[in-house]
Amino acid sequence: MSNYVGRFAPSPTGPLHAGSLVAALASYLDARAHDGRWLLRIEDLDPPREIPGAAEAIIADLARLGFEADAPVLFQSARQGAYQEAFERLQRAGRVYPCACSRREIADSQPGSAPGAELVYPGTCRAGLPAGRAVRSWRLRVTDEPIVWADRPAGWDQGRTQQTVLAAEVGDFVVRRADGPWAYQLAVVVDDAWQGISDIVRGADLVGSTARQIHLRGLLGYPAIRTLHVPVVLAGDGQKLSKQTGARAISTADPLAALKNALAHLGLSVPNPVTIGQFWRQAIMRWRDSAWAQAEQ
Ligand code: GLU
Repeated sequence: MSNYVGRFAPSPTGPLHAGSLVAALASYLDARAHDGRWLLRIEDLDPPREIPGAAEAIIADLARLGFEADAPVLFQSARQGAYQEAFERLQRAGRVYPCACSRREIADSQPGSAPGAELVYPGTCRAGLPAGRAVRSWRLRVTDEPIVWADRPAGWDQGRTQQTVLAAEVGDFVVRRADGPWAYQLAVVVDDAWQGISDIVRGADLVGSTARQIHLRGLLGYPAIRTLHVPVVLAGDGQKLSKQTGARAISTADPLAALKNALAHLGLSVPNPVTIGQFWRQAIMRWRDSAWAQAEQ
């Protein structure tokens, strides 16, 4: 048995769609091709953004498509204590501070930034909450020391070394909202470590989160994790296909077609599977022989 552990970690903000199926498929094939384990984690951190029944629908669709998790599904809603504990450790280390800024105020502090662009937090509350203001979130104090990282060879930028300066590109980022929810960045890092994940395989839309997660992992003393970001599926208008843009659920009426389409998006094909079992056997072999499976430079 190898020590590879992979995962698929959807947020239940909508059904499984062509884009999320590609991420699920890549993570599953990579785990199986490395004789590893594969886990499913539902990232149900932010109830107002969730669609009732979406988690159950995603789990059922994956099962219908032949995905088999090696442990019971982990729900982030059941992990509040673990996030609290990690947060308190960061707090004790003096790494987090309360912030009163609204999105609006941060946007207004950067006139001319492109609409929808990720805003760099200017550090307004770093030295203390302005008098009379209420806490809206808790932010992690970042540094201008570059975070040097690389995706696996077939992944983002063909595995070339990246240097991310969080202070310049992101700024101090939110790890907890004052009205309750934990931020994705904190929860994902805590759970990846707790579940013993060795390899994160996910859509390239999350590349921008990688340096933040590496930084948090370092602060919390967690082991490093390899990453492989695969191309995202674009909608007809060139936008990323996502639940937020109303991507349609995949049709599991023809599971083989859905799986073959997702595989084709990754540039792979299989001879002519007649059953789902055949698809998986062939696809795992194809993946194993492809550049995707390379784990080291
Ligand atoms: N829950 C995140 C999403 O659905 C993905 C988390 C991850 O793969 O790191 O976009």
